[in-house]
Amino acid sequence: IFSLTGRNILVTGGGRGLGKAMALGLARYGANIALMDINMDLAQQVASEIESIGVRSLALRGDVTNEQDGERVAETVVDAWGNLDVLVNNAGISIQAPAEETPLAEFKRVYEIDVYGSFILAKAAFRPMARQRRGSIINIASICGLTVLVPQPQVAYNSAKAAVIMLTKTLAAEWARYGIRVNAIAPGYMLTPPVLKMREDDPQRYEYWMSLTPMGRAGEPSELEGAAIYLASDASSYMTGNVLVIDGGYTCS
Ligand code: NAD
Repeated sequence: IFSLTGRNILVTGGGRGLGKAMALGLARYGANIALMDINMDLAQQVASEIESIGVRSLALRGDVTNEQDGERVAETVVDAWGNLDVLVNNAGISIQAPAEETPLAEFKRVYEIDVYGSFILAKAAFRPMARQRRGSIINIASICGLTVLVPQPQVAYNSAKAAVIMLTKTLAAEWARYGIRVNAIAPGYMLTPPVLKMREDDPQRYEYWMSLTPMGRAGEPSELEGAAIYLASDASSYMTGNVLVIDGGYTCS
């Protein structure tokens, strides 16, 4: 039930970090992987790694905030491989600034990538998924959409990820009749480039975060693979509109 052999999966922001880790994990379970990223060098490197696993891969340039890019990328996957089975809406950014000093333009930029980008790609994936009456959309939210992490001020990111969770639930309710499941993953602190940089810039704050995490450590990017494989595959066939929290226990304390 976890097999993804022959499934075609599109991962946004697949060039590095969590997107790359999930793409490799999904490929190891048999899926063909298309990577959509604004950074083609990174996407191409990951595509080569995926091909060496023995499945097909495509590196596609595209900005998730651009509706035409979203539609073009989804069409390219369908033209190349016949259909699109799974979308992983992973591309996302955060900014840190006190709410009263956050410029509206930066607040909007976070929403454009994290929220509108997920909606744009979900809409682009809808047609091919509805046509075959099967599909799984996995939105990468964050525990920041469930609880306010301290002490960092990040009003745009927290509220955007909360929006991603309601986007997930709403699309799940609307699209169940088309056979499309929509779920979210809410990771805690994971060791990707942005978090590694925050650890380097402020080791004391990083230690404080770890003291609030019952498992006492951040997650490796590869520790999201299992959740992605579960949600992409038939193993989760009766799950829709929900959030898998992968956070070393942060939100249970
Ligand atoms: P990252 O910065 O390491 O990687 C992001 C990737 O997205 C990059 O390859 C980048 O080129 C691409 N990208 C950025 N903007 C894009 C756009 N407009 N269109 C297409 N591609 C774009 O980030 P990460 O830490 O791996 O985070 C990935 C996702 O996981 C984000 O949505 C993030 O909010 C979420 N998340 C991360 C953590 C964590 O601790 N790292 C925790 C919770 C949630």
